[in-house]
Amino acid sequence: MTYDRLVCANCAAPVSEGRCPVCRANRERLQQVNFFTGLNPTALIALLVVLVAAVVLLAHQTV
Ligand SMILES: [Zn+2]
Repeated sequence: MTYDRLVCANCAAPVSEGRCPVCRANRERLQQVNFFTGLNPTALIALLVVLVAAVVLLAHQTV
């Protein structure tokens, strides 16, 4: 996901330019998201596998 084209609801400028505190807060938050997804793709896949396994196990137990 890219934040380059996001427009701020507060100042109506691109969030990537960081013209107001809302822009800067959003930009920082989005960069953190990018940082985590870029850093741990393997961990995210592992988490997904664990979640799917848990759902399958629960479904198996109820049936
Ligand atoms: Zn703004």
